[in-house]
Amino acid sequence: MRDFSANHRWLSINTATVRAQWPLDRIIDECAARGIRAISPWRDQVAAVGLDDVAKRLRSTGIELSGYCRGGMFPASTAEGRQRALDDNRRAVDEAATLNAACLVLVVGGLPGALAGAPEHRDIAAARTDVRDGIAATLEYARSAGMPLAIEPLHPMYAADRACVNTLEHALDLCDALDPERSGALGVAVDLYHVWWDPKLQEQIARAGKERLLAFHVCDWLVPTRDMLNDRGMMGDGIIDIPRIRGWVEAAGFAGYSEVEIFSSENWWRRDGGEVLDACIERHRSSV
Ligand code: ZN
Repeated sequence: MRDFSANHRWLSINTATVRAQWPLDRIIDECAARGIRAISPWRDQVAAVGLDDVAKRLRSTGIELSGYCRGGMFPASTAEGRQRALDDNRRAVDEAATLNAACLVLVVGGLPGALAGAPEHRDIAAARTDVRDGIAATLEYARSAGMPLAIEPLHPMYAADRACVNTLEHALDLCDALDPERSGALGVAVDLYHVWWDPKLQEQIARAGKERLLAFHVCDWLVPTRDMLNDRGMMGDGIIDIPRIRGWVEAAGFAGYSEVEIFSSENWWRRDGGEVLDACIERHRSSV
């Protein structure tokens, strides 16, 4: 297992972590000033600054993308809705390619309309069919663009509104069905916040192997967790045995960035952005 204690060579910052403090251009500059070599930005943050400006700034600072957030949200209750989702995913693939991202992260979606508070049906099996079909169609396009797709299984508490793929096993079943040759075009994003509790985690990480492990997202699970979405903890402040799971991921062949992704409306989003990045560096060395 790699030694992270001496430096932060393998730290990446998911830019949602300081989204409340800074726009993306400032985030890139602040990361560069601290020797952080990779980020994973969100589409709305990129759009706010401008895709070409972001690409230029990445080139001039030498910062690379450990991933791009995000595609997905495939389920819809009409054919037009499903087509809209595919069109949007193609744009996401194109943006990710322009920014030379390591992968496009997919948050696959749940029941159509649920995220807006108005679920249009109760058929989660139908939603999962939409997800499978949506990934299959997007995969074809992503292959031609040379952009790997990383399915991110989300904690089951999000099954209704954000993602109806909730375990690493389920995500890998999709990978095996749609990319049986393990080509590297389709894999998973392992986010500890979503999967730490899974009794099959170790065996599924081993099953994923190097070809399927495209991204590794870290934060911590606080006890108590006061908000389902926006109360993620800084590494070391909760109950996830992060080094143990990183050991499993690396034993399976993953050798990429450890991406810090913290949504924290009551704590880290209220602090100075520089303080947050400095804490990410320190905890990356001590607690990842
Ligand atoms: Zn994540």
